[in-house]
Amino acid sequence: MAFQIIKLDLQAIDDIACPYCQHVVVDWLNEQYIQPCEHVLFIAMDIGFEYITDEFECTMRRSVDDLHANDDTVNMLDEIKSANYSDFIVTQSDLGVEGYSRYIGFCASI
Ligand SMILES: [Zn+2]
Repeated sequence: MAFQIIKLDLQAIDDIACPYCQHVVVDWLNEQYIQPCEHVLFIAMDIGFEYITDEFECTMRRSVDDLHANDDTVNMLDEIKSANYSDFIVTQSDLGVEGYSRYIGFCASI
């Protein structure tokens, strides 16, 4: 694996900030709560992607459209693990639904 997973001890309603620039990338006070900064590669849940950069998507073995079309059988974390993008971190936090997580990929060198 070219990345490490960092488990965040957050509630599902907590904001999530970028570890590099501290920009709040999941901002519940904002109607458009997904606010990616330049370090964000993707924002995903077990059930699908909310945001992904072209640079990251093209390193995955399947396209996001394909994943979403098969979201009942796809494990999004496995698909993230399949990407051959190098040197990134993934934060994992509770989605507030039993057994579901949110995953955010960050890259320092963008
Ligand atoms: Zn950032």
